[in-house]
Amino acid sequence: MSVPFIPGETVTVPEITFADQVRLPASKTAVIVVDMQNDFVKEGGTLVVPTAIETVPNIQTLLESARAAGVRVAYTQDTHFEGDPEWQIWPEHCRAGTWGWEIIDELKPRPEDVVCQKNRYDGFYGTWLDHFLSHVWKVEHLVIVGTVSSICVLHTAASAGLRWFHIVVPADGISALTEFDQALTLRQVSWLYLGDVVRHTTDIVFE
Ligand code: ZN
Repeated sequence: MSVPFIPGETVTVPEITFADQVRLPASKTAVIVVDMQNDFVKEGGTLVVPTAIETVPNIQTLLESARAAGVRVAYTQDTHFEGDPEWQIWPEHCRAGTWGWEIIDELKPRPEDVVCQKNRYDGFYGTWLDHFLSHVWKVEHLVIVGTVSSICVLHTAASAGLRWFHIVVPADGISALTEFDQALTLRQVSWLYLGDVVRHTTDIVFE
């Protein structure tokens, strides 16, 4: 790479070290499903990530094995109200109370799950998520899936990493707008925050 790097030049994806398998203690682990809402995932949504729908079966498989092992499940729900400055950056999306704001039916939260509404990319910013994970569920490991990889998933994973949660991200459980963004996310998680990345949700084993 030349210095300074000029955008537009070809980028080589740095090496991303995937673990073949990650085993996690069920009682100390939670799965966080980030923003799998109609506006991001479903046809007719206002900010659709085209590959998000392909991650749904993989996330379903992960949730099945997590729930069978007694692993707790938390959702983040992107939530905006009239006048939100985020709508200056993005088209209007996830307006509280609308169809687009709702979590998709295929991943509908269960009564024992928690749903944390958030107003920014980071699920921890200005929310009770840290308090809940640290002091109510007392978990140390977080498996993070959802969309958008380089935006809400990465900000949430980074924020968890800064708090020294051990984070695990399966590549087939997250969706980005570009391949670059997907690679960036996996690179940052596996390197900067001492997290683990795996290729498939099925590479994660709860015990
Ligand atoms: Zn938003």
